[in-house]
Amino acid sequence: MMTDTNAKGTDPLEAALGSAEHAVATKLCKKCSEVQPLADFPRHPQMRDGYLNSCKLCVSQDVKRRNRQKRNDPVWTAAERARLRVAVAKYRLRIAADPVKSAEARVRQRLYNKRWREHNRQGRNDD
Ligand SMILES: [Zn+2]
Repeated sequence: MMTDTNAKGTDPLEAALGSAEHAVATKLCKKCSEVQPLADFPRHPQMRDGYLNSCKLCVSQDVKRRNRQKRNDPVWTAAERARLRVAVAKYRLRIAADPVKSAEARVRQRLYNKRWREHNRQGRNDD
């Protein structure tokens, strides 16, 4: 605690920033074994210190690798296609039961189709 704020050469803000509790916290990444600033770790409420043990870069590489594996797995892609078919069917049933929502959905779909056509115009031969 600062007791004498008028002391020469000691700016209270500077003293606070220099204190241990304001020093940049770091953590060791279990994946790449590098010590990095805590800000480079994803937050995770269930971890003791509130952050994951892998840095953001390692986590993002893991996610990319896992997604690549999934896409190359015919069992996973078939299951995912089936899951999405069911989800879309459920969505359509819910929308169809609501006249306001189905009108909104029609407008949204028209806008989407228009944007899609504009975006994909260059690739077409019959334009
Ligand atoms: Zn890492």
